Amino acid sequence: MTNTMDTQTQTILIVDDLRTNALALAKILQPEWHVKIAMDGPEALQMVLDDPLPDVILLDIRMPGMDGYEVCRRLKQSPETQDIPVIFITAIEAEKEEARGLELGAVDYIVKPVSPQIVKAKVRNQIALRQALAELAQKNKELERLAARDELTGLFNRRKLDENFEKEVARAERYARPLSVILLDLDHFKSVNDTHGHPVGDTILIETANRLRTALRTSDIPGRWGGEEFLIICPETELDTAAQLAERLRREYENLAFPEAGRLTASFGVAAHQSGRLAKDILQSADKALYRAKKGGRNRVESEVLSMR
Ligand code: GH3
Ligand code: MG
Ligand code: MG
Repeated sequence: MTNTMDTQTQTILIVDDLRTNALALAKILQPEWHVKIAMDGPEALQMVLDDPLPDVILLDIRMPGMDGYEVCRRLKQSPETQDIPVIFITAIEAEKEEARGLELGAVDYIVKPVSPQIVKAKVRNQIALRQALAELAQKNKELERLAARDELTGLFNRRKLDENFEKEVARAERYARPLSVILLDLDHFKSVNDTHGHPVGDTILIETANRLRTALRTSDIPGRWGGEEFLIICPETELDTAAQLAERLRREYENLAFPEAGRLTASFGVAAHQSGRLAKDILQSADKALYRAKKGGRNRVESEVLSMR
């Protein structure tokens, strides 16, 4: 759905084999909109893909060669054109014909001789509807984005991580592919807040997120698991490889100096999928490994011990 925003002029495509008809319609519409004319079905199907894409199509039914019904049918078949509203314009005034047009996906029907007011009003209605739909789609997209992101860091939030991990586990299971997760918890983060203040703590979390984003492959999926905990989903990755990745991240983190708070460390727990294992069990294993890393003195990586199969 492009060129439907109200700052732009919308384009109307008129399809009519009779030049005088097409020009009469164009005269009605031109003051308000940009008008294009096609003289037959094939030309219409060609023109409909040219820039600017039409926002509304006024389509004659009776045309030699390909009739309006067939043009409409083809428009509705193609993903590029199926959302463009089609209004049939015809001399045929029969209930059956009108029903056929509407069943093919046309939004409206105008009978010749046309009333300029009615044509304009019907086109205006369709354009308004299309704009409302485009705005709604835009808002939906924005809501979807917001629902998936952690507000502070911009990383995926826990909800989205859970969703992604479920999908990855299902994929790993179905195709017998490796899959690992890394759970990361900043060490003694409470004291960062206590010493430097909560806003500095926030800054550290944001910078940590940025480090993760740049340090990982694009196939790895990082997110904020909660508080000062981050989860990294590593598709196509064996436990050992994930542990090596965690070790690299640990070392990088340790060597980082935050202008606001100096050096910090993090602890890591790594776990992997095995056939038949549920997402929550893998996450629990990562959590247990992380706990061992904390117990063992922090600033270290612990992997779960996989049972033999
Ligand atoms: P440990 O090494 O055992 O992990 O110690 P810790 O202090 O990091 O762990 P603890 O769970 O005791 O404290 C976590 C701290 O993280 C406490 C909390 O205030 C802080 N925290 C959680 N979320 C945020 C946040 O969004 N912003 C800031 N600034 N701090 C946060
Ligand atoms: Mg912590
Ligand atoms: Mg914690």
